[in-house]
Amino acid sequence: MSLIARLILLLQERNQIKCTRCGLYFHKQHTQCPHCRDMNATQLEAFLEESGIDPEAKSGLGQFLVLAAIIVVVIFLFSRIIR
Ligand SMILES: [Zn+2]
Repeated sequence: MSLIARLILLLQERNQIKCTRCGLYFHKQHTQCPHCRDMNATQLEAFLEESGIDPEAKSGLGQFLVLAAIIVVVIFLFSRIIR
C-alpha cells in the first residue's frame, strides 16, 4: 500500500469505530457494525478465517510507520514554505 493511501486510511479511521467483534472499521453514525451485525457466531468465525482478519491484532509497527510518514511530509511542506 502506498504512503498516501495509508495516510488517507488513517484520516478516515478518525471517524471510524473499530468493531470489537470482526475487527473492521465502521462509521460513527452506525450504532452496530454493518459488516457483522447480520452474522451469527459461526458465520462470523468463517468470515474472519476467510478474510484473514484478526480482531485482536495490534498494528503497532504500522501505526509507527504512518506517524513517521506524517512527520516527514510535515517537515517537507515546512521546508518549502520557509524558502
Ligand atoms: Zn463487526
